Amino acid sequence: MKIYVDFDDCLCETARAFSKLGMEMFGRNVPYEDIRFFELDKSFRLNDEQFEQFMIRGHQPDVLLSYEETPGASSVINEWLSCGHDVSVITGRPFSAYEPSREWLDRHGLEHVKLFCLNKYGRDSFIKNSDFSLEPEDYYRMKFDLAVEDSPKAFPFFTHLPSLRVLVFDRPWNWDCTFPNENYTRVFSWESIRRIAGS
Ligand SMILES: [Mg+2]
Repeated sequence: MKIYVDFDDCLCETARAFSKLGMEMFGRNVPYEDIRFFELDKSFRLNDEQFEQFMIRGHQPDVLLSYEETPGASSVINEWLSCGHDVSVITGRPFSAYEPSREWLDRHGLEHVKLFCLNKYGRDSFIKNSDFSLEPEDYYRMKFDLAVEDSPKAFPFFTHLPSLRVLVFDRPWNWDCTFPNENYTRVFSWESIRRIAGS
């Protein structure tokens, strides 16, 4: 099986870290459960300048490396790898965040998983002239059987794969979204992802 796994809020608890950062940087008390918009400027009521500072801070190596692992992520992925499945982590982080992102994976026992940066969200402007390691045309040549994603904004990246099974990791910002078709399933933990992928 070829498997796509998103990084932020699938492998690690990015939004919970942003919730703390919002308090530290701007005195905004937005608990994780209240992050109802994937657009963090909207969830944290930030102006453009604050949002830019927020995203730059959130992508600095010390912050990226501090993100907590979503429970069970690395053990399920390592199980897949040991069964011979082909797993790619495809993140919307810019390529400037590649090294610390790679290091985070290595530190969490995921040395053998591939990592690609793809401009999924069109929000590369927060780090000027960002590069991404994966061009859209290369991405569209990749085939997947299963995907783990949390962001409705990334769903358009699956429309070219009509039989792809998409597991949507339950997060407050996807509670109100409509799934594009019946191949999408809401999941609440890596334990359920393990079960569904194995069935
Ligand atoms: Mg994500």
